[in-house]
Amino acid sequence: MEFTKLSNRLDLVASFVPAGARLLDVGSDHAYLPIALLQEGKIEAAIAGEVVEGPYQSALQNVADNGLEDKIEVRLANGLAAFEPTDGISCITIAGMGGRLIADILAAGLEKLAGVSRLVLQPNNREDELRAWLVDHDFCIVDEAILEENEKFYEILVVEQGSQELTAKELRFGPHLMREQAPAFVQKWSKEVEKLEFALEQVPVENQSARASLEERITHIKEVLHVS
Ligand code: SAM
Repeated sequence: MEFTKLSNRLDLVASFVPAGARLLDVGSDHAYLPIALLQEGKIEAAIAGEVVEGPYQSALQNVADNGLEDKIEVRLANGLAAFEPTDGISCITIAGMGGRLIADILAAGLEKLAGVSRLVLQPNNREDELRAWLVDHDFCIVDEAILEENEKFYEILVVEQGSQELTAKELRFGPHLMREQAPAFVQKWSKEVEKLEFALEQVPVENQSARASLEERITHIKEVLHVS
């Protein structure tokens, strides 16, 4: 059997799936994540959910090519409609989509999440909006990770049931990420400071409000990075 090699991004998502989980991977275009986790023997079974016909067919084909039809069920479904409480899903991964879309997917099936113990979410953008949605709906961010791949930064949120309060800074930067200050985190926000400082140089001195807004954003980032 040839093992499926995940991208560094999906590999990091996979690392937060608990051993022995029954997994639902939402938006599982090639079913790479559930296939790799089953090949490793890390999870018990999985559903690969996909809403678009083409990617759904790719997932079906890959699962069959790897002889995993008895362990991975590929379902053509929108978001959390891919599972029922009787499937006993314990962990859901949603990766490679916008933060707002991830929140919409969770909101549309909110009542089904009561029996799920962990969500591993990898938004491609609007991480702050996703964090705000999670906190508003009694989810707790128990861990976070960040990586750079192909010149893009990706954040991963590990989420469980429970209440949590986050400050505006924690919503934006991530409560764990801002505490841990991993190299990728420092690089991401240092690059953002460079972009904002460049933008500031282009704003005429007379445009005080635009300058003040940019300066405030730069100051906030520098405070989080502990630089002056
Ligand atoms: N999860 C994979 C990854 O991270 O590499 C694939 C990411 S791909 C950019 C997003 C996939 O999610 C697409 O195949 C898309 O069709 C699917 N998708 C988008 N919205 C969805 C929804 N509401 N329910 C299920 N799948 C969805």
